[in-house]
Amino acid sequence: MIECKNVSKTYPNGVQGLKNINLKIEKGEFVVIVGLSGAGKSTLLRSINRLNEISDGEILIDGKSITHAKGSDLRKIRRDIGMIFQNFNLVKRSTVLRNVLSGRVGYHSTLKTVLGLFPKEDENLAFDALERVNILDKAYTRADQLSGGQQQRVSIARALAQEAKIILADEPVASLDPLTTKQVMDDLKRINTELGITTVVNLHHIDLAREYATRIIGMHAGEIVFDGPVEEATIEK
Ligand code: ADP
Ligand code: ADP
Repeated sequence: MIECKNVSKTYPNGVQGLKNINLKIEKGEFVVIVGLSGAGKSTLLRSINRLNEISDGEILIDGKSITHAKGSDLRKIRRDIGMIFQNFNLVKRSTVLRNVLSGRVGYHSTLKTVLGLFPKEDENLAFDALERVNILDKAYTRADQLSGGQQQRVSIARALAQEAKIILADEPVASLDPLTTKQVMDDLKRINTELGITTVVNLHHIDLAREYATRIIGMHAGEIVFDGPVEEATIEK
């Protein structure tokens, strides 16, 4: 589903964000990437859907090169990838429903949908997505009136309405309290199990990683230093 072949990324200031990453993630996996701040976790996730351009190597999504894709081919590949960010990335002054519907824009890109006029089928998908993360009752609430955990569930619903096959979550719970953290991680895990969505989550918290991951990838200074099943991911004291 996701394949990185000899991927390196050097930022314009000379910092090597990624050093020769080789990685294969199969359909339906729930992978957690762990590592200290600055390890390259975010650079890796952002490279996978090409929010970052890589400097070397190639990334394949479902066998298609996102690295070399252009125009409508690139948009089609990106449609399969939902992003979840630490700061939720919602349009704060829009309703929850509008935020979730924005996941549909890539399917039309017509002036109508850019202006927020979506077909009925899209609205139904958005309502289904909100129901799946248990915030259907907030559909007409403004995004900035929700708690952090609720906002993150809206961003998960947006990825679901997008009919993403892959979810990339970059520190999705870093700004949430422990109880809300559990709810959001439970939602991500449940969606992975129920819908088979391939999920990659960046976390800096190893205990949380152990609780949810089936596979853990450890990063340090732009390199993968551990990649294995959760049982093997012990820390020597
Ligand atoms: P995180 O550790 O959560 O990934 P950072 O604080 O490292 O976030 O980065 C926040 C933002 O600043 C990101 O957009 C990142 O690309 C950018 N950034 C991080 N480090 C540098 C740097 N050395 N020079 C310029 N921009 C940077
Ligand atoms: P993590 O997500 O594990 O905290 P990042 O991928 O954000 O790590 O950062 C990896 C390295 O790349 C760090 O040294 C960081 O400072 C650097 N970096 C990240 N974004 C930028 C940027 N936009 N410009 C320059 N350096 C960056």
